[in-house]
Amino acid sequence: MFQLPSLPYSFDALEPYIDAATMEIHHARHHGTYVKNLNDSLPGKTDSDLQGILGNLKDLPDNVRTKVQNNGGGHANHSFFWPLMTPDRVSPSARLVEILKRSGFDELEDFKKQFTEAALTRFGSGWAWLVKDGEKLLVISTPNQDSPLMTGKTPVLGLDVWEHAYYLKYQNRRADYIAAWWQIVNWKQVEKNLILLSES
Ligand code: MN
Repeated sequence: MFQLPSLPYSFDALEPYIDAATMEIHHARHHGTYVKNLNDSLPGKTDSDLQGILGNLKDLPDNVRTKVQNNGGGHANHSFFWPLMTPDRVSPSARLVEILKRSGFDELEDFKKQFTEAALTRFGSGWAWLVKDGEKLLVISTPNQDSPLMTGKTPVLGLDVWEHAYYLKYQNRRADYIAAWWQIVNWKQVEKNLILLSES
C-alpha cells in the first residue's frame, strides 16, 4: 500500500504564512485522496515503487495511466513538498548558494526571482520546480499533478500553486502566497536534496 506520510510539524506550525485549516485540508483530504485513489489504481504496490512507476507511465495499461499520472504524481509531489517547509526559519547555507551560482544563477535572489516567475505564470493548477536535469539545474513548472520524474528530471525544490494550497487565506492572490512561502522554505532540506543527487 501507498501511505500518507505524517507532516514533520503540526498543522498550525507554519502560521501566519500558511494557516492551519489550509494545512489540515491539504494534507488529510487532498493528499489523502491522492493516496486512496492511487491504492485503488495500483493494488499491491508501495511507495518504493513510485519513482519507477512515474518514470514509466507509458508501460501502464490505458485504463489506469491517467489515474496514476494524476494521483501518483499528486502523492509524490506532496510527499516531497511537506519537508520543504519548516517553522524554524532556516537560511540557505553558503555552500548551497555556491552550488546555485555554479549552476548559472547569479545570486540567491536571481534564483528566487526565476522560481517565483515560474510559479506565477503557471496557468491554472500546477507546480513550480527547481530540478536536476542531467548535470544542469533548471527552473521549470508542470501542469496539474505532473511530476518532473515523468520526464526524467529529479526535483530539488517544489511549490504547489494549486488554489487548494492557498485559497482560504490568500484567495486569488497567488503572488502573496508565494512571497509568504519563501519565509518558510526549509533550505536545509533543499541542500540535502541537492547533495543526495550529486552523490548518486
Ligand atoms: Mn496540493
